[in-house]
Amino acid sequence: MHQIIDGKKISAKIKEEVKAEVALLKEKGISVGLAVVLVGEDPASKVYVGNKKKACEALGIASFEYLLPESTSEDELLALVEKLNADKAVDGILVQLPLPSHLDEKKVINAISPDKDVDAFHPVNVGKIMIGNYTFAPCTPAGIIELIERSGISIEGKSCVVIGRSNIVGKPMSMLLLHKNATVTICHSRTKDLSDVVRGADIVVAAVGRAKFVTADMVKDGAVVIDVGINRMADGKLCGDVDFESVAPKCSYITPVPGGVGPMTIAMLMKNTVAAAKNKI
Ligand code: NDP
Repeated sequence: MHQIIDGKKISAKIKEEVKAEVALLKEKGISVGLAVVLVGEDPASKVYVGNKKKACEALGIASFEYLLPESTSEDELLALVEKLNADKAVDGILVQLPLPSHLDEKKVINAISPDKDVDAFHPVNVGKIMIGNYTFAPCTPAGIIELIERSGISIEGKSCVVIGRSNIVGKPMSMLLLHKNATVTICHSRTKDLSDVVRGADIVVAAVGRAKFVTADMVKDGAVVIDVGINRMADGKLCGDVDFESVAPKCSYITPVPGGVGPMTIAMLMKNTVAAAKNKI
């Protein structure tokens, strides 16, 4: 019988813990602040930024929102990042991606102070994750580790297969699992016999971006399956990278979409912001 890993419940618990930490810091006279920068009118990005603001407000974190027009120049954006780097009230800086095409994302990310880079995308933080000595990890993979561990699943010694090698999910996910002493295999679009590789996994993390990519025949009995995918279907509904209906009966644990990995990302962003604030003490 499979168990559903409830991301809503686990993320709510993490937010509660963060709220308590923020209150404790306030008692010591330390405020916590997150700056979120959005350039342009992308509707999905607007929703994400709005949700981040709401989460900050609910947890007692000061939220500084910068909604810049599509026409913002790179120099203007870099100047804002510099200003936020120097602002003592700002512990975390998040520039919502994707940026409009005339702006160089790499240049902007590299301009954020690594100490305030709560997304952990700056090369300094990427390197620290590689070494295993880091203050914050990218929110989605860090959230997945929380989902697994808080469900009472041990990672050590397990055979883990991560499908996807992006810089924001697949690669950091693999490193975090490795630091937990898993044996990690990374699959991607050129992997041969992918089904065979996935079938050997105790823990599967699917971050492919293709609806129902992982099917029942690819998963061994009793596996733990984590579905990162967010795919919008023709009927408007969200669908993961895992064919939930057929895969779930074979699993020991599985995350649903929605309600699995998704809610963890903001919770971990809040956690990273508090970690950045504690770092300045
Ligand atoms: P990317 O498109 O950057 O990466 C997808 C990865 O999947 C690539 O490494 C690609 O391989 C691999 N891939 C694509 N097709 C195949 C295939 N047929 N066989 C094997 N591997 C394949 O996506 P992201 O990592 O950014 O995101 C992945 C999914 O997770 C998306 O659905 C996204 O929306 C979702 N997501 C969810 C988040 C959440 O909060 N829940 C946060 C971030 C992402 P290759 O490198 O060879 O091209």
